[in-house]
Amino acid sequence: MNYKNFPMVPRVIFGRGSFNQLNDIIAPKRLNIHAPFIFLVDDVFKNNLWLTSRIPTSYDDRIIYVSAKVEPKTSQVDELVEDIILSTKERPSGIIGIGGGTLLDLAKAVSIMLTNEGETKDYQGWDLVKNPAIYHVGIPTISGTGAEVSRTTVLTGPEKKLGINSDYTPFDQVVLDSELTKNVPTEQWFYTGMDCYIHCIESLTGTYLNTFSQSYGEMALQLCEDIFLNNNLSKIEAQEKLMMASWHGGMSIVYSQVGVAHAMSYGLSYLLGVKHGIGNCIVFDHLEEFYPEGVKTFKAMKKKHNINLPKGICSDLSDKEFDIMIKISLSLEPLWENAIGKNWKKVITPKKLKELYQKM
Ligand code: NAD
Ligand code: ZN
Repeated sequence: MNYKNFPMVPRVIFGRGSFNQLNDIIAPKRLNIHAPFIFLVDDVFKNNLWLTSRIPTSYDDRIIYVSAKVEPKTSQVDELVEDIILSTKERPSGIIGIGGGTLLDLAKAVSIMLTNEGETKDYQGWDLVKNPAIYHVGIPTISGTGAEVSRTTVLTGPEKKLGINSDYTPFDQVVLDSELTKNVPTEQWFYTGMDCYIHCIESLTGTYLNTFSQSYGEMALQLCEDIFLNNNLSKIEAQEKLMMASWHGGMSIVYSQVGVAHAMSYGLSYLLGVKHGIGNCIVFDHLEEFYPEGVKTFKAMKKKHNINLPKGICSDLSDKEFDIMIKISLSLEPLWENAIGKNWKKVITPKKLKELYQKM
């Protein structure tokens, strides 16, 4: 057996209001006054002085607002990198991503592409990155994806939706301040939170499971059940717990894999642009045969929070479009192998996937 040797986030600060310490954290990392920090910030915060007035800029530092309406693309990373190279006197001291999974993934990818030649799409895959990224910091403002701890940055490229999985991808520093999540709209809170719940179910029921993943997965699952089913939590408790559930859920899949919902939701995202959190929910709702207990609890959570998922999103698709989704989904072999086992191809055929997609 050849065990994998994974990096982890080396530094993390946790606590309500810890965002105020950002300057103390990053100042020692400034290389010189011509090497700025670049803050990539979700544009939902553009006019939010409560947050933006606390972003510690000095010298040539820059805030770039980025929309999270669409998921990150490889071409978008290339454009950001070019913009940063052209507008800075020296290579930046660091990239700081402030937002949800979209902004965190962009920050990771930009920090990698500032030190690696060529186009971002060339690095989609496993361990293709040659040079260490520049210093990068992740500050989540919505909880659930685990992007703050993961070894990947999920990007849609011209041919595939696939992460840059590498030892240089994880953040050098993460700031976990649950107060930053206080204004997340309920539906989005549910979708991104369910991403975490689904990570737990897919990891804990997968064939890749090991004690490392299990211990994180069980912890995150317990937190999710508490957050989404317990009536007695205060808002602050729920926000803090979801932040930690996201972290543990992410840690759980670092050393295992996700499964059926993710494999199928990547297809929906690639063809229809359905976002990760809601896409996982749409798929997971129809996966009783794979995750009977998990889906039952998911439906109870959905009911409790009055969430109505879109229906019929695949009803008008052509055969050709189904084929595109099926091809994307089937290409995610480790996810299927984790979910079903080594002989997954006997169970998961294009016909089977089409039948499932047709229900959605
Ligand atoms: P997101 O970043 O796409 O944001 C969702 C919405 O919430 C956006 O409209 C955003 O503007 C808004 N938002 C974020 N914070 C807010 C706040 N505090 N107040 C109000 N609105 C706020 O959401 P997400 O679900 O965190 O991320 C999804 C992305 O993460 C996808 O691109 C997916 O591929 C990626 N992802 C990455 C990993 C990884 O390991 N790298 C894992 C899972 C998902
Ligand atoms: Zn996910």
